[in-house]
Amino acid sequence: MERLVEIEKLSIEEKEEVSIRPTKWHEYIGQPQIKQNLSVFIQAAKKRNEVLDHLLFFGPPGLGKTTLAHLIACEMSSNIRVAAAPTIEKGGDLAAILTNLNEGDILFIDEIHRLSPAIEEILYPAMEDFRLDIIIGSGPAAQTIKIDLPQFTLVGATTKAGMLTKPLRERFGISFRLQFYSTEELSLIVQKVADKLQKVCDIKAATEIAKRSRGTPRIALRLLKRVRDFAEVADEKKITHKQTLYALNQLGVNDLGFDDLDMRYLKILSQNRKPMGLSAIAASMSEDEGTIEDIIEPYLFANGYIERTARGRVVTLKGCEAIFKKY
Ligand code: ADP
Repeated sequence: MERLVEIEKLSIEEKEEVSIRPTKWHEYIGQPQIKQNLSVFIQAAKKRNEVLDHLLFFGPPGLGKTTLAHLIACEMSSNIRVAAAPTIEKGGDLAAILTNLNEGDILFIDEIHRLSPAIEEILYPAMEDFRLDIIIGSGPAAQTIKIDLPQFTLVGATTKAGMLTKPLRERFGISFRLQFYSTEELSLIVQKVADKLQKVCDIKAATEIAKRSRGTPRIALRLLKRVRDFAEVADEKKITHKQTLYALNQLGVNDLGFDDLDMRYLKILSQNRKPMGLSAIAASMSEDEGTIEDIIEPYLFANGYIERTARGRVVTLKGCEAIFKKY
């Protein structure tokens, strides 16, 4: 049976995220290089009346990979089918998804590095020749049935490009690494979403939220919603800077956007005085490695709070200052 993620199956929080997601190309803020290149590729594909080449987006969670996939579908006037790699367990799951595609559809597979090798094998001919090879039986009597598929574009998203197998990575014609956003870009995103939520948000308040969002739109939007809660309970008509400062402090998000988890991470690393491996950090924090690698570390690495050495992670001077700075 087909197991695609449908809007109806999303939680209320996720549904709200869908409703505030940019629906027009110009509403997508930032990532200028990616947007420019993508619009060239989209125009070229449209001119030739062809489907867009398969695309890979990689970067930490919440930077806008899913949003881009939806916008591409919109620009190509195509339908988008969404699937998360962990839900594609058996060959039949992928076969059902592929055979249900229509000509020109976009198939978005999130967390694509989590596809099993057997599923990847099925994906290769589908990506290269738009063909599904189904093996019936086993041993010498096994037979392969070939089914032609409609031409489609696979958009893969991953937080771990390094975990993608080489053959799969090579089958994507285009790949983009998404960058963390600047405070100005995030402030603009916050203001636009506040408009959509029919809430007036001071520019200073939006900038304060942006500064504490670790370069990530999803975090900015989450903080905005919580700050809105504080404003509404206090019967404030608009989100002011004062209200925002109060709410963010109540939420335990400091000036640098670090919460308790980040601070614990930095403290453990600095107290250890020696480089630490991922598993040792995870054990000390009682957190799983995935959370640490995907959620905590990318921003700390990108902004020089921690560094990678041959023997593990170390905290930098900037990281130490962040621990001892009073907010
Ligand atoms: P990812 O797929 O990388 O985890 P999403 O595409 O789900 O991230 O983005 C998370 C949220 O942030 C979405 O609700 C979307 O509205 C918002 N968002 C992400 N990137 C942008 C952007 N460039 N401009 C405006 N909003 C964005």
